[in-house]
Amino acid sequence: MSAVTVLEIRLDTGKARLRRLPELRQHLGGSGLAAALFGQYALPSEPWDHPAQPVIFTIGPLTGFFPLMSKTVCAFVSPRHGGYAESHAGGRSALALRFAGLDALVLVGQSPRPCIVQVGAHDVAVEEAGYLWGMDALACAKRIRRRTAGSGHRSIWRIGLAGERCSPMACINVDTYRHFGRLGCGAALGAKRVKAIAVVGEEPLPLPEGKTYSALFKDIFRQLTDTEMMHKYHNLGTPENLEPLDALKALPWRNLQATSNPAAISQVSGQRFADDALLRNAACAGCPVGCIHVGFVREKFIPQDNRYLYRQVSYDYEPIFALGTMLHLRTPADILTLLDDVEKAGLDAMSAGVALAWATEALERGVISETDTGLRLAFGDLAPYRDGVHRLAAADTDFWRTLSRGADAAAHAYGGADFACVLGQEMAGYATGETFFVAQALGLRHSHLDTGAYSYDQSNPPQDTAAAVRFLLDDEAERVLLTSMVACLFARKVYTQERIAQCLEALGQNELAADLPATARRLQAMRWVQRLAFGFDPLAVTIPRRFTEVTTWRGPIDARYLEALRQDYAQAILRCAAEVHP
Ligand code: SF4
Repeated sequence: MSAVTVLEIRLDTGKARLRRLPELRQHLGGSGLAAALFGQYALPSEPWDHPAQPVIFTIGPLTGFFPLMSKTVCAFVSPRHGGYAESHAGGRSALALRFAGLDALVLVGQSPRPCIVQVGAHDVAVEEAGYLWGMDALACAKRIRRRTAGSGHRSIWRIGLAGERCSPMACINVDTYRHFGRLGCGAALGAKRVKAIAVVGEEPLPLPEGKTYSALFKDIFRQLTDTEMMHKYHNLGTPENLEPLDALKALPWRNLQATSNPAAISQVSGQRFADDALLRNAACAGCPVGCIHVGFVREKFIPQDNRYLYRQVSYDYEPIFALGTMLHLRTPADILTLLDDVEKAGLDAMSAGVALAWATEALERGVISETDTGLRLAFGDLAPYRDGVHRLAAADTDFWRTLSRGADAAAHAYGGADFACVLGQEMAGYATGETFFVAQALGLRHSHLDTGAYSYDQSNPPQDTAAAVRFLLDDEAERVLLTSMVACLFARKVYTQERIAQCLEALGQNELAADLPATARRLQAMRWVQRLAFGFDPLAVTIPRRFTEVTTWRGPIDARYLEALRQDYAQAILRCAAEVHP
């Protein structure tokens, strides 16, 4: 088995060491490798911001060799819940690490001053970067691009004001338009005083000789570009889902006070975004699909030139839900303007939008007052939300500091817990039913991507907790295999387990290719062991009342079934972790 190459950088001393670890290859890469390294480095008895806690970035064994093996997994101790967390991003991040000769990058310690970490195939530097501290995430990237050589395999990761202030909603902006978004990984970097990481991959990557590899590559490439699903991702992209989900009564509006808005949906649909705001498509490095949709906002009029200044902003289903329908903003221009503010601040778009939605309803109900917020937040009103984004990132008063820790933290302090739309973290945009609510509340990443629960709900299954739990565990195992290979999940129908085995064999990794289903189960359990090691108790998870007040196309949510499923899934997670074989 080939060794895993890990670059460990100590931020307090600036020293680095290269570790070659053959024993870690059994964990594949991505999620599996991240969890294994986390087990080696993390300190369960210390808080999330202890200087010794690691921030880990991993890629997979197929990265650079096959298309859409394009993600990097970031593992860290979450400021949101104090335990094992993962966030995944694409862009050029994975290829840059591959061409720098690395499978993993591990940061430990705390820099004495704000710094930028530079990683190349032959050199590493931790350089003072006080001049970048305080800069927004977009301006910061521009400055680094000007001073860092390389382009094709250069990847720049940085934090905004939210990360500097260690907000649990802080993301890491990656290249242009990608993010390590959720669970506060931006704060994990901010606590280490790392403003940015620039990876420049400059090593050649020899490809396997012979016809087997090239024939396999061509076949996968053809499948990826031929399928209807991939055309959908390219054409309207994930915003295509807005109208069908609204029709299903599964699209959250106004802090989940409604799940459908037939009068307004056409104003924010995928087609409306394409007609009114789409400029172009973009893609992660080496991806032939190009699902990234880039729109524009008009920033200001420049009188001397008699022209407008435009800014490019990428959009997806999730930000449109969180910063659009949840806040009742109903034009692409308003939503993209707010999204641009969120990008600059370095906030996770979903958490920011859902937290602002809670604050708006709390204000309407008199749970909080304008004295707390300093702003007259109102559904549908862009201007105060723009200020709210800045206040969330700056966390400069008691109220905004508390809200930056999460809508549930604010509800704990001020009241309004019943309508805080939090399922482990601020909800993703799927009010599809009981299975999704339980899946996000208990899922390892509290992400809509942990499992396909939103699809399961839409298949109209019978109320059967055993069947639902079986689905959640089986689907999670399949996804863990994919995220351990760092496959883009849009390619999940192409990268079946048989396909992945063929790919590994084409690279001579026959041992890894053997019995992938068993490997998937082992990695699934290992991640849960890490999640539980910091005290996560799935049995203690609660689901706010708002989720029981929802009506979907199947009728009102069944609170008793929701509760039975919550308990059964929690027990199943504990059993799953107990089965781990190191
Ligand atoms: S399909 Fe989209 S997210 Fe996936 S690799 Fe391609 S551009 Fe990136």
